[in-house]
Amino acid sequence: MRRKLAAGNWKMNGLSAELDQIDALTASHATPSVDLLLCPPATLVAAAAARVGSHPMMIGGQDCHMEDSGAYTGDVSAPMLADAGAGAVILGHSERRDAHEESDEMVRAKAEAAHRAGLIAVVCLGESLDQREAGQTLDIIGAQLAASVPDAATSDTLVIAYEPIWAIGTGKVPTLEQIAEVHDFIRARLEDRFGTEQASAIRLLYGGSVKPDNASDIFAVSNVDGALVGGASLKAADFSPIIKALE
Ligand code: PGA
Repeated sequence: MRRKLAAGNWKMNGLSAELDQIDALTASHATPSVDLLLCPPATLVAAAAARVGSHPMMIGGQDCHMEDSGAYTGDVSAPMLADAGAGAVILGHSERRDAHEESDEMVRAKAEAAHRAGLIAVVCLGESLDQREAGQTLDIIGAQLAASVPDAATSDTLVIAYEPIWAIGTGKVPTLEQIAEVHDFIRARLEDRFGTEQASAIRLLYGGSVKPDNASDIFAVSNVDGALVGGASLKAADFSPIIKALE
């Protein structure tokens, strides 16, 4: 059985004072029955990991470089994230694919770097509104999946997040049928590539405007094993009901 996963992506939000939100989450979910992952900005990873203490919530990064070290001013490597206490890293988020021109090949190389460092790679896939309206959604998702995920990935080292770009931060959510169609498709593609046993253990998250009031419906959809939550992960008061909906 796949253990459910509630993941939060703080994006470029959060100063030290916001670490209080972690205290609130770990207090309200003292013994969570689902896995929890919170990805604050890189500046807070070490402090967040320290704040979590012995609670099972995992802290993650939001990106890493494909190289382990070197002359890459401003970048953060996977070993650095691991050293700071991270257990996972979000890769290929559409905001990075867009603003930083990250290709599928770069995302795959970053996922390989994450795996070398012992981090879980949370690989994001998603179509634009134009692509959806042109009926290309499954082609796009299939191509991103094929090229962004390393061959050596396993259910222990890989989580896939389906995040339609037009649903991120917009309050627009696909229909439950649309979510099911894409998640079932991803599962089938993973089975083709990794075999049924391995593929059936890989967790598939939905992301894009997940809120306390739509979480339960989304979590009831076939092959949805949790969520990657942006805006609603910033405050424990919003993220906590989403976690509860998954439990
Ligand atoms: P959102 O972001 O929940 O604010 O839509 C999701 C994401 O980008 O991971």
